[in-house]
Amino acid sequence: MRVYNFSPGPSALPLEVLQNAQSDFVEYADKGMSVAEMSHRSGMFMEIYHETVCLFRELMAIPEDYTVLFMAGGATGQFAAIPMNLLRGGADYIVTGQFAKAAAQEAKKYGKVRVAASSEAENYTHIPEITPDMLDDAADYLHITTNNTIYGTRYTRLPDSKAPIAADVSSHILAENMRVSDFGLLYAGAQKNIGPAGMAVVIVRNDLMGKAQALCPKIFDYKTMADNDSMVNTPPCFSIYMALLNLRWVKARGGVPAMEQMAIERSRLLYDYLDESKLFSSPVRPAFRSYMNIPFVTGSAEIDARFVQEAAKAALVNLKGHRSVGGMRASMYNAMPLDGARALVDFMKKFEAENGEYVRD
Ligand SMILES: *Cc1c(COP(=O)(O)O)cnc(C)c1O
Repeated sequence: MRVYNFSPGPSALPLEVLQNAQSDFVEYADKGMSVAEMSHRSGMFMEIYHETVCLFRELMAIPEDYTVLFMAGGATGQFAAIPMNLLRGGADYIVTGQFAKAAAQEAKKYGKVRVAASSEAENYTHIPEITPDMLDDAADYLHITTNNTIYGTRYTRLPDSKAPIAADVSSHILAENMRVSDFGLLYAGAQKNIGPAGMAVVIVRNDLMGKAQALCPKIFDYKTMADNDSMVNTPPCFSIYMALLNLRWVKARGGVPAMEQMAIERSRLLYDYLDESKLFSSPVRPAFRSYMNIPFVTGSAEIDARFVQEAAKAALVNLKGHRSVGGMRASMYNAMPLDGARALVDFMKKFEAENGEYVRD
């Protein structure tokens, strides 16, 4: 039986995508072999690669002067690749969660890094206000994390930055409309909203490439990767193929605007209930609430644990919160249907009714 899987990543994929992959797995189209067995240089794989790039371009309306790269090493690989490619004088980082902090720490190995703002002191429950005087106009780039997967916050407005913005969009790419031209670079680990784990997608403005530090490995050098169709070495072929199936699914369902509409509706079901519940509450300031990752707490570790356990018995799984926030977290990416959010809210209401003797103070 399939469950409603609220995992933050690797996360649920659409059933149709899994079924398409299954029916193609042993013999892809009429090629007589699996995608997992193909040469990455073969015409049949190059078709898969080109269609994947084209669909990213189409669905995200990526302008001509940006390049789409598929790279190994996940989003964490990009924490290093970005400074190795872009950092010369200095870079600004805004720290809005553990991943943002890790990105800044990694970048320090490669040059001068300044934390321009941080919400760490408030356990990342909001996005700090960023005024132009806080930013270094001469920085090589400003790094931000637009949706904070662990804490459930999102930027509602981009910082007014003279430096190109390099954004970690791992947990809401393809789920919210983004104007690519607002950024110098966007990147995402695949395993949240693109497909299975195994690669990162990097969307980089062409003028930012070609100036990598001498120590940069060639598999992390954006220009070298761009000149070789992301195939300086064997790329994550199967991850690219799975991304393609998922992109086709997104397109057939109305593209990113339709995904965003659904994300707003789906998350609202849960937020509306959290705001009226006497048992559960959201620790995130309302103005910054993510459409994708929704932490919630009861205030009692014991009740939280019981909730997670009983929810799993009702086929609502992976609801345990990150250890740094506690409580629960529901991650609902593109593959989560509205019915999944409804089932969760119905279960929470039932749980609250049954645990009525406990009221949060
Ligand atoms: C999951 C996540 C990461 C880490 O991704 P990996 O692919 O495991 O390196 C980084 N940033 C954000 C925002 C994430 O959600």
